[in-house]
Amino acid sequence: PVVTRFAPSPTGYLHIGGARTALFNWLYARGRGGKFLLRIEDTDRERSTPEATDAILKGLKWLGLDWDGEPISQFARAERHAEVARRMLETGHAYKCFSTPDEIAAFRDQAKAEGRSTMFLSPWRDADPATHPDAPYVIRLKAPRDGETVVRDAVQGDVTFRNDQLDDMVLLRSDGTPTYMLAVVVDDHDMGVTHVIRGDDHLNNAARQMQIYHAMGWEVPVFAHIPLIHGPDGKKLSKRHGAVGLEQYQAMGYPAAGMRNYLARLGWSHGDDEFFTDAQAMAWFDLDGIGRAPARLDFKKLEHICGLHIAAMDDDALMAELEAFMKASGRPELTDKQKQRLSRALYCVKDRAKTFPDLLDKAHFALIDRPVEPDEKAAKILDSVSRGILNQLTPQLQNASWDRDKLEAVVAEVAEANGIGLGKIAGPLRAALAGRTVSPSVFDMMLVLGRDETLARLKDATA
Ligand code: GLU
Repeated sequence: PVVTRFAPSPTGYLHIGGARTALFNWLYARGRGGKFLLRIEDTDRERSTPEATDAILKGLKWLGLDWDGEPISQFARAERHAEVARRMLETGHAYKCFSTPDEIAAFRDQAKAEGRSTMFLSPWRDADPATHPDAPYVIRLKAPRDGETVVRDAVQGDVTFRNDQLDDMVLLRSDGTPTYMLAVVVDDHDMGVTHVIRGDDHLNNAARQMQIYHAMGWEVPVFAHIPLIHGPDGKKLSKRHGAVGLEQYQAMGYPAAGMRNYLARLGWSHGDDEFFTDAQAMAWFDLDGIGRAPARLDFKKLEHICGLHIAAMDDDALMAELEAFMKASGRPELTDKQKQRLSRALYCVKDRAKTFPDLLDKAHFALIDRPVEPDEKAAKILDSVSRGILNQLTPQLQNASWDRDKLEAVVAEVAEANGIGLGKIAGPLRAALAGRTVSPSVFDMMLVLGRDETLARLKDATA
């Protein structure tokens, strides 16, 4: 069975690149009936914070990436990591190194001065334990000195590292704490991880991690190192590009389903498919479809995809997401009346909205209460002539059956009676109902608002 994991370091917000890594792992596991695990790599006590962990969990929840079981704390497993280091001592795959930091630094300085490799090779590698001093030591891996370590990467292909270029890495520090490299391997092994999908900034680590797997006789997982995300300018993504944290996308009102779809396409492809559902993504996602070139953030594409998802959402789900968005962004809670009107208005505003704020703006007419405050342009349209025309409309609307055909007929009749085009009457009507010069069609607005509210707004505008 497939087991994947997302292993963020809780040192800041959830980066958009991290979110994509999590998504790939989630898709891979969910598409294969496997498990998707979450491990918080909180061994760096200085930089790890509970707030960052919260932000990561929140971000994953918002994005809809549910993980199996409880999140695992790497720090909490330190004793197990140490145990594995000691096990490697016993089997001869690791050794105690008594070289002090000062000695190592001195070695490096000298090597540099003499133009030699500064790679430190411990004199304790083959020392007889009988000669060991009673002094602090680190445990180092007795890494192979000959041959090569080949990372068979599902994205990058075979990547070869010469073993004489890899030093004997430290597994356990002199204070007994495990190094990152040891912790990752032990955790991935113990968690039964079968596929490691992560950023290609970890490719070099994979070679070192493989040496630990080999030393322990453990099965190496499938590695898939994915190219990092670049900004629209093709440069490495940084704060300068804006919107590097996932929560910023939430705040901008992109629907999570759209984000999942867009992020899936960021570095992975399935033919020409751009717009798809979770079920399709799960069925299609595979490691073969991951490209080797860095993907670029493209906000136009993101908006386009998100717009399609908003349009495709059923009204109840859309309402729930809108309300959650409004709450999260600190907007005042809607009254029952506003909620009702908004949910009735969805059909005529959701087709062209790219984000939730965009949709709410289009639905402005449904969210406002009387008296409608016309903006400057709308106020100009509501001059005495057009108010007179609106006045003629009122008695007709009082008795009309409230359906689109009838409403269209009534408006057309009044226009004809005044010898004016439809636009000349739709303009003031729009201004009266929405207080704006841009809105959904006047007939949609009348249908959403209903007879009483429509007539009341007309009355206000012509008073
Ligand atoms: N904690 C590492 C990071 O946040 C990920 C390590 C891994 O996936 O193996 O970059």
